[in-house]
Amino acid sequence: MKFIGAHVSAAGGVFNAPGNALEIGANAFALFTKNQRQWKSKPLSGKEISSFKTALKESGISPEHVLPHDSYLINLGNPDPEKRKKSLDAFVDELERVEQLGLQLLNFHPGSGLQEVDEESCLKLIAESMNEAISRTKSAVLVIENTSGQGSAVGYRFEHLARLIERVDKKERVGVCLDTCHSFAAGYDFRSPGAYASTMAEFDAVVGFAWLKGMHLNDAKSAFGSRVDRHASLGAGNIGWEGFRNIMQDHRTDGIPLILETIEPERWAEEIRTLRSFAEGSNGKAR
Ligand SMILES: [Zn+2]
Ligand SMILES: [Zn+2]
Repeated sequence: MKFIGAHVSAAGGVFNAPGNALEIGANAFALFTKNQRQWKSKPLSGKEISSFKTALKESGISPEHVLPHDSYLINLGNPDPEKRKKSLDAFVDELERVEQLGLQLLNFHPGSGLQEVDEESCLKLIAESMNEAISRTKSAVLVIENTSGQGSAVGYRFEHLARLIERVDKKERVGVCLDTCHSFAAGYDFRSPGAYASTMAEFDAVVGFAWLKGMHLNDAKSAFGSRVDRHASLGAGNIGWEGFRNIMQDHRTDGIPLILETIEPERWAEEIRTLRSFAEGSNGKAR
C-alpha cells in the first residue's frame, strides 16, 4: 500500500498538522516541529505533545508515516568546530522533539563543506555528528536525504549516502530519503521505465532498498544533471508524470511515507489523487 502526503503546515502548533494532512486526502505527512529558520524554539509543552498525539490518533495516520524535517540552518558537516557544535545541539533538539511526539523518523540534509574541506572529510564530519547525536538520544531514526549537489553540499551521489551509513555505528538508527527533484538534478534519470529501472538498480546496489525510509516527490524546474535545486508541481517540470508513474507502480515504495514538497499547496489534493490512480493501475511488480 502507498502512503502519500505532503509537507503540511504546522502553523499555530504541531497538533494542527494531522488535520491539514487529512484535508488533502493524505495518509502520510511531513512537518517542521519548530520554526525551521530559527536556531532556538521554545520546548514543546506537555499540552502540545498530548494534543499532537490525540490529533494523530484521530487522523488514523500511523507515526511511521510521519516524516519530520529538520531546520535548514543545521549543517552537521560544517568544518568550523564551534559552528558544527551549534548545529549538532540543534539537531539533538530536533531528535528529542520527534521522540517526545511519539514519532520515529527525522529527515535531514547531510551538510556542506563550505568549500573549506573536501567531500570525503565533510562526510566524515557528518558521520561523527550523527554518531554523537545518536548517543545523546533514544530511538529516532536519522533519515539522510539525498541532495541536488548545489554549492558544496554533499549527498548528491548514492555513494555518499552509503558512506554515511557505513560509518554510523548503530545501524538501526539510520535510513535514507530519496528526493526525486534532487536525484534528477544530480543526474539520476527515471523518466522512462528503463531509466527508472536502471537508476533504482544502481540505488539498490550502492545503498540498498532496506535503508529507504521515505521519498520526497517533487518535479524539477531545474534541468537534468544541473545540480540546481528547484522544485515544481508534479507534471509541470522536467521530470513529468511518467517518472512518478514509475515510482507508484514499484512495490518497493510501499509502506514508506511519500511526501510532496511541491510549490503549489492548492494542487496537493489533486497530485495525491493522481499518484494513487497510478498505484491502483499497477500489477504490483517491481519495474
Ligand atoms: Zn526534499
Ligand atoms: Zn529540494
